[in-house]
Amino acid sequence: PKTQIIAVGTELLSPTQLDTNSLFITQQLNLLGIQVTRKSVVGDQEEDISNVLMASVEHSELVFVTGGLGPTKDDITREVAANLFKRKLVFDPLIMESIEIRARKCGLQLTKNNRRQAMVPEEAEVLFNFKGTAPGLLLNVNGALLFLLPGPPRELKPMVAEQVVKILKETFPVSVQLSRHLAVAAMPESRVDAMLEPIYCQYPQVKTTILSSPGIINLHFSCSGSSQAEEFTLEKLIGKIRTKLGKSLFTETGQTLPQVVGGCLKKKGLSLATAESCTGGLLSKLITDIPGSSDYFRGGVVTYSNDLKELFLGLPTSMLQKGVVSDAVACYMARSVRDRTGASVGLSVTGIAGPGGGTDEKPVGLVFLGLCQDGSISARKHVFPGGRKVIRRQAALYALDWLRRELM
Ligand code: AMP
Ligand code: MG
Repeated sequence: PKTQIIAVGTELLSPTQLDTNSLFITQQLNLLGIQVTRKSVVGDQEEDISNVLMASVEHSELVFVTGGLGPTKDDITREVAANLFKRKLVFDPLIMESIEIRARKCGLQLTKNNRRQAMVPEEAEVLFNFKGTAPGLLLNVNGALLFLLPGPPRELKPMVAEQVVKILKETFPVSVQLSRHLAVAAMPESRVDAMLEPIYCQYPQVKTTILSSPGIINLHFSCSGSSQAEEFTLEKLIGKIRTKLGKSLFTETGQTLPQVVGGCLKKKGLSLATAESCTGGLLSKLITDIPGSSDYFRGGVVTYSNDLKELFLGLPTSMLQKGVVSDAVACYMARSVRDRTGASVGLSVTGIAGPGGGTDEKPVGLVFLGLCQDGSISARKHVFPGGRKVIRRQAALYALDWLRRELM
């Protein structure tokens, strides 16, 4: 079906707010083999919304509108659509009741304008909102399906993933989109592509997308069809990619790197402690983003100044004087934090995140990682490209990936 997404909200035309709802909807549609043909963003003015809506149902079979269903005066999507398509708005007591129950639970006082959210255009289907007050609505306008969906992403996402997808599957015969997602850490994108290009170019029927962010390369493979032949082709390609990547491949299941590292530590019954300088806690932040990380993460220190490297980790003055960005210091930090916390593994980062502080000998981006486990202790040197934020992120992820490889 020809498919459009319309994001409604004046804030989405400002320099600060991005329309992310359409990205999520697109992802869900693609999984069903449906491609988006057009997207628009429109402010909260009746005339503009009307024009975009009118054009959309004339040219598309599927239209998704997000935003403008809230209780405030500027949210007018529901009323504009009802007006335009000549549907009366009818009060739905069931919706009102669920809004009241929700408000009571949250200890909120309902206002008169909440009543507007219980108004449903004639012959519209109601999509229940489990995360907020405004229900979604589905209208059939001369054969075109028009979804009106709430703006807040946390309300929109479950509604689309559960209710909208179900309706679409029933309405459109699905050509199954087979897809696989693999991820690699601690390698430059160009190197990953050079390794894999000779393999994936032999499979033109599979769409390959390589998306890189600092420290992580995401590999997406997809092909449409529903026969076993396509499934077989995809599996064959993935098998070759898996072999080629070896230990570099850290997930095929969508797990994040910190999740995978946590899983390895847990499985081996090991605990971890960190000593960070230039990452300022980012490494321990990434580790503790994972629920249940207390099972294996003992904690860490951020020793940003030389004083604290001495005080908390006992770095000898002579070593500090020689410069704190070195393999010797990284080793010392890793060993010391391991010894002092009683953890099985110590992981450390010291480096120059910039933008200042670089020299010819020790440029911005120079980072030493240290790893201490059992009797073994070693350091690795990296020079990361990019600005401060990117350097710090790479440093933390490369440290985690090094640990992962050691644990495998
Ligand atoms: P609304 O349904 O118009 O009341 O939207 C409520 C809030 O949801 C807005 O303030 C935005 O923060 C958010 N929002 C609305 N539309 C979008 C969108 N297309 N993408 C991301 N966030 C959105
Ligand atoms: Mg709005």
